Amino acid sequence: MDKLPDNFVFSQSNLQNFMDCALRFKLRYLERMPWPAPFTLEAQGFEAERKAGDTIHRLIRGYFEGLDPLSLLNNALLHGELTEVWLRQVMDAFPLSESDTYRAELRIDQTLGGVPATAIYDLVGQESGKVLIIDWKSSSRRPNFRRIRESAQKRLFPLVMAAHLQEWQTEYSNLEMTFWELNFPESSFRFIYNQDLYAADLAWFMELTAQIKNLSPEGFQATDDLRKCRYCQYQSYCRRGPAEAPEAKEDRDEAIDAMIQAGEIEIGDLRVEPL
Ligand code: SF4
Repeated sequence: MDKLPDNFVFSQSNLQNFMDCALRFKLRYLERMPWPAPFTLEAQGFEAERKAGDTIHRLIRGYFEGLDPLSLLNNALLHGELTEVWLRQVMDAFPLSESDTYRAELRIDQTLGGVPATAIYDLVGQESGKVLIIDWKSSSRRPNFRRIRESAQKRLFPLVMAAHLQEWQTEYSNLEMTFWELNFPESSFRFIYNQDLYAADLAWFMELTAQIKNLSPEGFQATDDLRKCRYCQYQSYCRRGPAEAPEAKEDRDEAIDAMIQAGEIEIGDLRVEPL
């Protein structure tokens, strides 16, 4: 495929991949190249972290879908004490009441300026007149606020939600998003959305997606930042293995977080529901 189809749906994951490396975007979404490299997160020993993240997301979803909390806690314990601590933390922070509405793993498809976009939210809640977006993070590394601020997810998630709410004639002045750090809850990143952020994020989205759609196949260049290559699935294709990519501890943490973020849930077959 030489060109993205007009109906290509932009997500935080594919946008983040483009922001990290245009060539990676091309290999993955235009050429649909299978991931050939041995240096995946799994091979680097991060499989346990990924699995723990999957498990806690599943258990939290069960909680918000009304499954028995005690059974879920017992189930969590089977996966280790930490999983149980995380789940208890969420249950304590979100005691369910009749008046609150929560939806776990909610997908919203929304056209932004004529361009299709989608977001899959870990949790969306309506609580005391506010709309809350929560994204659970189970990384063992302390959050990097600069990276969060610059991430595609931080911009796209509230943007899609705000546009969706507008379409349903609902105010979004009470829209909040939290990157909830299960390992470091005191370091969770929370912000309130407003019209200035909406305008800036919409401009960012339109500019970035136009840039992607207008690039020629040769325009998708490999990144100059070798840290992005260190945990990339295509490093054997690009001949950019660990020997070429330098590794300082902070580089390593950032590279791992970037790969996890760029690989977060792709468009799946989750249900689509209006708020
Ligand atoms: S290995 Fe590096 S240059 Fe190649 S696709 Fe991955 S990030 Fe881009």
